[in-house]
Amino acid sequence: QPAAIFGARRNSDGLDLTDPVAFGTMDTRRDPYRTHQWSAFPLAAGSSAQAPRDMVNPARPDDRLGSVSEADTARVHAAIAAARNSGWSEIAVAERADRLRRVADLYEANSAEFFALLAREAGKTWADAVAELREAVDFLRYYADQALIQSGSPIGPVACISPWNFPLAIFTGQIAAALVAGNPVLAKPAPQTPLIAFRAVQLMHEAGIPADAIQLLPGGPDVGTALTSDPAIAGVAFTGSLPTARRIEQAMATHLDPRAPLIAETGGLNAMIVDSTALPEQAVRDIVASAFQSAGQRCSALRILYVQEDVAERTLEMLQGAMDELTLGDPWHLASDIGPVIDKAAQTRIADYVAARPDALVHRLATPAEGHFIAPTLLRVKSIADLPEEIFGPVLHVATFKADALDQVIAAINASGYGLTFGLHTRISARIDRVANAVHVGNVYVNRNQIGAVVGSQPFGGEGLSGTGPKAGGPNYLPRFLTGAAPLPQG
Ligand code: GLU
Repeated sequence: QPAAIFGARRNSDGLDLTDPVAFGTMDTRRDPYRTHQWSAFPLAAGSSAQAPRDMVNPARPDDRLGSVSEADTARVHAAIAAARNSGWSEIAVAERADRLRRVADLYEANSAEFFALLAREAGKTWADAVAELREAVDFLRYYADQALIQSGSPIGPVACISPWNFPLAIFTGQIAAALVAGNPVLAKPAPQTPLIAFRAVQLMHEAGIPADAIQLLPGGPDVGTALTSDPAIAGVAFTGSLPTARRIEQAMATHLDPRAPLIAETGGLNAMIVDSTALPEQAVRDIVASAFQSAGQRCSALRILYVQEDVAERTLEMLQGAMDELTLGDPWHLASDIGPVIDKAAQTRIADYVAARPDALVHRLATPAEGHFIAPTLLRVKSIADLPEEIFGPVLHVATFKADALDQVIAAINASGYGLTFGLHTRISARIDRVANAVHVGNVYVNRNQIGAVVGSQPFGGEGLSGTGPKAGGPNYLPRFLTGAAPLPQG
């Protein structure tokens, strides 16, 4: 069994951006979508929609890319009633898995359009967009494989509430797992990224998943509340902020069957420790990727770097030099390493946070005048206890520690209550085991960056305030959407 659970399958090939022919071909295929206009609306039974709202590119607010008409909350119950009668659970599991695989193929066939949407709606650079499409495809194929080796019955209609930072990958992962287990799904994408979600659900329908089995309800918190307050919902998958997760849990406790599962993936105050034996060039490369790639808008992103005092000056000097090499700009262009943050509200929130700490500022790049950009920023702090909350952007805090204070650093990291990712750079093998066992986090990364968990080989999810588990892209995720599932070995 374990070989079938972890091995055998292959992840998506993605696109090699360093291959000029492969890249050039894709760039040409994407070009028609540079000025394309999309429109999204509820794909749900009996739903009526609100007046359309314009969608704009966070890198170029004068680039309108279409509009969304959000779902009317009063009609959400009609969509759930249709989901219950969709007949999806009666379709054999092998056939459900085949249809998910067809969705994966259609995603790949439509990659040029997704790359355009990921850039223009979500501010994703080429590298991020390629990784995101791969992850979405991997989730579809991985859960399709899993469904064939796991047993249990569907639980009923599942509400999937997804975030804007992975508008295709996490959106798809939640839905794929719930669906292949035989449950109809009501999906609410983040209000910032409904167009990507709309195209994804259209392709799911094209792949033969019945319209009532996967319904799309674009909207804000009111749509989420309508879903999680409906007693016919049998489970909720949510990725987003901790306060929202708490609200969902309260709503579920009041309205839903007490057995209805909540899978919540929330934030983190992720740390990395770099000791004096670390290879500085490698550590700096991995710090930059972990803190600034995707403009720091990953829940896995590095928020606080602890560097051993003895090597701090040199490491920070190299880090600032590496930051200076980053290109901020319109993610449409391959040369842009860092795109915008998601919207004006995020830009203001992060800029205010940095502006309120002038004495802590160590280094900051120049900010482009146009677009919702935040320049990568380095702030000095004493400890993780100085971080008031997760700042969801390219802001890295740095602290130093003395050689004999490693245990205190780990205790402080654990005391934050969050536990998502953690990075360690050291060349002392005994230290790797000791530290990895002592930190209470979901994903530990040693001598590498701490973002970009790979479906099927690095199940992703946190402990404590970072989430309920089970880890996405791992063998324990699917059983949460089944009743009477046979327990699997932990992984
Ligand atoms: N799975 C992503 C990673 O490993 C992060 C997911 C998130 O930001 O919600 O970087």
